[in-house]
Amino acid sequence: MIRTGLSAALGGAILLSSSFSASAIQIVLDYSYDTSGFFSDQLRKDLLQTAASTLGSRLSDNLLAIESAGSNTFNAEFNDPATGASETQSAYSVAGDTMVVFVGGRDLGGTTLGLGGPGGYSASGTSQTFFDTVAARGQSGALDANPSDFGPWGGAISFNSTSNWYFDTDLTTSADIQGNDFYSVALHELGHVLGLGTAASWDSLIDANGNLVGTNVGSVALDASLGHFADGTSSTVNGVAQEAAMSPSITTGTRKEFTDLDFAALSDIGWQVTPVPVPAAVWLFASGLLGLIGVARRRA
Ligand SMILES: [Zn+2]
Repeated sequence: MIRTGLSAALGGAILLSSSFSASAIQIVLDYSYDTSGFFSDQLRKDLLQTAASTLGSRLSDNLLAIESAGSNTFNAEFNDPATGASETQSAYSVAGDTMVVFVGGRDLGGTTLGLGGPGGYSASGTSQTFFDTVAARGQSGALDANPSDFGPWGGAISFNSTSNWYFDTDLTTSADIQGNDFYSVALHELGHVLGLGTAASWDSLIDANGNLVGTNVGSVALDASLGHFADGTSSTVNGVAQEAAMSPSITTGTRKEFTDLDFAALSDIGWQVTPVPVPAAVWLFASGLLGLIGVARRRA
């Protein structure tokens, strides 16, 4: 009886834990094409990883693994982040709930700060299930004629190696930004990799007047490219007004976090967007409470 009570309590603890944090998308950053050495500084990698984790931790989709094995072969195709040339990772595999983003720096010219988007692919095999997994990773709406969901393997991002970047050593403050805030641009380009402005399920939501129309975003004007919200589109972050991350530009010396509108758009193109994570103190309290329940069960 004691053992039963214990294992029931442990099972409860595991369930509680997973409901808070375990179901997130891991965005793995691959620097193997960063031949210009843009990311040779660890601070730059850390900032990009923080941006990736900030977005991935809010997504609870179950992305099926893509496994090249036997007669099934998946080839990931993307633009080399350091040269722009077409690259292929042949017989590639991506773990479940994971996306891979190839990143690097190159001279993008002019005022462009970054270029990012989901990758393409080719596949061969004998199983329709395999082809569907490669195309949609279990997000069935992504296979519809007018796609309502998106299940990418990942993609690529180039950051302009000639821009005047600001690499923040303390993301808790944004008053000291001089130049172009790398963290903000990282969030924006990762948004493109996640399908904002790039996925077929984004295109499905664009009306004849160039607005994005969705359950969560309402109706929002897009820029001329139809790949961003219109310049100056306002939203909120924790109740504070801010220009949307997925507008086409950023003011030098400012930070743009992912706003409520940006997350709403992720939801409308098919992502399962979770609420802001419960603070650690609340989680500890819940954990302690469960411990008490466990004790009570053992006594019973
Ligand atoms: Zn953009």
